[in-house]
Amino acid sequence: MDEGLAVVAGGGGFIGSQLVRRLIAEGAKVRAVDYAPREDWQQVSPQAENVVLDLRLSAACDEAVAEAKAVYNLAADMGGMGFIEANKARCMLSVLINTHLLEAAARHQVARYFFASSACVYSQDKQRTPDIVPLKESDAYPADPEDGYGWEKLFSERMCRHFTEDFGFVTRVARYHNVYGPHGTWTGGREKAPAALCRKIAEAKISGNHEIEIWGDGGQTRTFMYVDDCVEGTLKIMGSDIDVPVNLGSAEMVTINGLVDVIEDIAGIRVARRYDLAAPKGVRGRNSDNTLIRERLGWEPLTPLRTGLETTYRWIYDQVAADARSGQQAARVGPLQRPRRATA
Ligand code: NAD
Repeated sequence: MDEGLAVVAGGGGFIGSQLVRRLIAEGAKVRAVDYAPREDWQQVSPQAENVVLDLRLSAACDEAVAEAKAVYNLAADMGGMGFIEANKARCMLSVLINTHLLEAAARHQVARYFFASSACVYSQDKQRTPDIVPLKESDAYPADPEDGYGWEKLFSERMCRHFTEDFGFVTRVARYHNVYGPHGTWTGGREKAPAALCRKIAEAKISGNHEIEIWGDGGQTRTFMYVDDCVEGTLKIMGSDIDVPVNLGSAEMVTINGLVDVIEDIAGIRVARRYDLAAPKGVRGRNSDNTLIRERLGWEPLTPLRTGLETTYRWIYDQVAADARSGQQAARVGPLQRPRRATA
């Protein structure tokens, strides 16, 4: 690990907080920055400098990156498909974060800048069938990304590219494909499919009501990357010479029904599946082509889905059980789901 201060923007979030822990474990000096009140951070590492700042503001970005050698931008106003389909403007306003952070980092002569992009940049036209060809990096153009969230990611990727071309500023961009794991959002409306399904099955197990709702017909395909692989890949890409956006995702494709099968096995129950065909379901199929990352790093995310889900299910089961014990189920509001300060 390089000497010098590493700043993790979005350091109170799911992936950001695990990146902070990993950097600290490697002996780095870390500043975690997030606009959520500290009590809402998914994890707080006491060894880090933990700062609450709204990174949509230019002055806050200056404060955040002061003295930094590396900046990891994982801050975004985002969530699962239910959130991003209903909050396109809010998702696009994350452009303020990357714009001001990138400018501030260049101004402060930060050595390296990382941007967490997403598989949502990929052209929707290439994701219309469940058995799709895995998405390679060039499939982002001609551009037809996920409305709102995907457009913001694609625009911010390009801004990183042009800061490199025009100012020689070193940027690295990873396109994360669905990340899951313990300490992720599991309730409240921003959770993604693996966490939502673990929660529903844990609730079924605890309540004895073995019927769950599934968004769509369950035939849509995805890949899911375990958070440890995401953190590992982020550090590898940051340290690499890959100066173009690169996929960071698992290539183990599964249908949503297949995902439910695995969680059922782990939970030791079977559930009746009620399909809500009107619910947000995203693209029909998505997989990550890992040729580029394999070629350039000799590595790709390989944690088996079953292995990652075992840890994730156990963690979510514990949250649901604690929640049920404290009798707060009706008024449940998960971490990071509490109303925040007004958005712009
Ligand atoms: P998260 O919501 O848990 O973390 C994002 C953090 O950013 C939150 O803690 C939030 O409070 C913070 N934030 C939002 N607006 C801010 C602001 N104005 N100033 C400061 N902090 C702000 O999400 P995550 O799953 O950890 O995702 C991290 C990054 O990875 C995001 O950029 C996300 O778009 C990207 N990504 C995630 C996934 C995934 O499956 N989780 C997939 C693709 C891309």
